[in-house]
Amino acid sequence: MIERSLSSLSSALAAGEISSVELTQLYLERIARLNPTINAYVTVDAEKSLAQARAADAQRAAGQGGPLTGIPLAQKDIFCTKGWLTTCGSKMLGNFVSPYDATVIERCNAAGAVILGKTNMDEFAMGSSNETSFFGTVKNPWDTACVPGGSSGGSAAAVAARLAPAATGTDTGGSIRQPAALCNLTGLKPTYGVVSRYGMIAFASSLDQGGPMARSAEDCALLLNTMAGFDERDSTSLDRPSEDYCRDLEKPLAGLKIGLPKEFFGEGCAPEVMALVEAAIAEYRKLGADTVEVSLPNMKLSVPAYYVIAPAEASSNLSRFDGVRYGYRAPEYADLNDMYSKTRAQGFGAEVKRRILIGTYVLSHGYYDAYYLQAQRIRRLIANDFVEAFKHCDVIMGPTSPTTAFRLGEKAADPVQMYLSDIYTIAVNLAGLPGMSIPCGFAGGLPAGLQIIGDYFSEARLLNVAHRYQQATDWHLRQPAALD
Ligand code: GLN
Repeated sequence: MIERSLSSLSSALAAGEISSVELTQLYLERIARLNPTINAYVTVDAEKSLAQARAADAQRAAGQGGPLTGIPLAQKDIFCTKGWLTTCGSKMLGNFVSPYDATVIERCNAAGAVILGKTNMDEFAMGSSNETSFFGTVKNPWDTACVPGGSSGGSAAAVAARLAPAATGTDTGGSIRQPAALCNLTGLKPTYGVVSRYGMIAFASSLDQGGPMARSAEDCALLLNTMAGFDERDSTSLDRPSEDYCRDLEKPLAGLKIGLPKEFFGEGCAPEVMALVEAAIAEYRKLGADTVEVSLPNMKLSVPAYYVIAPAEASSNLSRFDGVRYGYRAPEYADLNDMYSKTRAQGFGAEVKRRILIGTYVLSHGYYDAYYLQAQRIRRLIANDFVEAFKHCDVIMGPTSPTTAFRLGEKAADPVQMYLSDIYTIAVNLAGLPGMSIPCGFAGGLPAGLQIIGDYFSEARLLNVAHRYQQATDWHLRQPAALD
């Protein structure tokens, strides 16, 4: 059962081949056995999961429910979940039991999905390797000496190790796509504003976006149908008619125009990854697509612009963690100021502090124009590059990550090397566009991802482009050798 896709589990539940309680138990047993090695989950609460599963079974027995009713899901620990510990990978929230549900959680619950647990992540979603989590590193199920990617590394490792059929993730600069690539998953970062950020702990509000991580495009479409939708509690949520993201999955690709930005195919990508990306593009030509060269001339500025804008927003967002209302508070302090500073010094890890310092600096009087405003201008130029490119193509393709999974500790001491792991993904967030990563082969036994970027609101098209490739190939069906 645990080898099956979300859609096939949904049919099995509908046909009564298995109950949600049985399915949930299968996963819980596997989590109990393998999570000590993989560390994908921060919190598991079998009683709560099984109560949801029982309710889902009752709903199905009454002839109610939808495709996700009774489906167990892993939820990234950035989504506030009522009655569950919601840590965001930080000591700062190490004791925080959320009094309310994020919209994403609320929607999954309303669809009858079962929460299997909360997944490990880089602290406050800052990282590309999951090594910044207060709750320890997550291991890549393909090679436990390697990172799973980040920041949604716990979600990625959970799905890759079959500790969940699908998971939620969030992507501020690549955190759904990069771990999907490193763990052989399909992940989708929607257009900014499609998935509500209400209750999703904020890192960089103008970039953060939740999305699905699963084994196939079809599964991502199913999960996105539940996650997406207008939410008046998020002022950046877009009020658009709801969509069925499965509607175009089967459309033939004849005539599809794929843009290949020359900046994606120059230096910087490991040759073995590039060879797999090129082979995937050749497969698309066989499926009837044409390719055209496009250019994103300002893409080279995306990492520097991001590392001004994201820390600036983070420094503001993280000011709320002061030890007063919730979360960690230093046990001993002299006065109020001392309480603030000790709490923040003890509660945040090194990467988070680095971002707060950079963000405070670039926003400070005298540097705001030189750094922050300048970065915002670059952001506009990058968005315009995409507008220009999409005049010549329907989707853009390239690598997701310049390398396959690197070894634990390999980049941990060098923040700039770590930041460069997102060289191909960050521009998409700066522009607010949707982007996907799909499995496209293996190098040295480790998976690589093909990135597919679309114009605003083209999620259904992206899922279609990914699905047709997955019908013609079987990379996405490969699984890590048994861990047990
Ligand atoms: N790796 C990037 C960072 O550390 C992106 C993280 C993310 O998308 N949440 O900021």
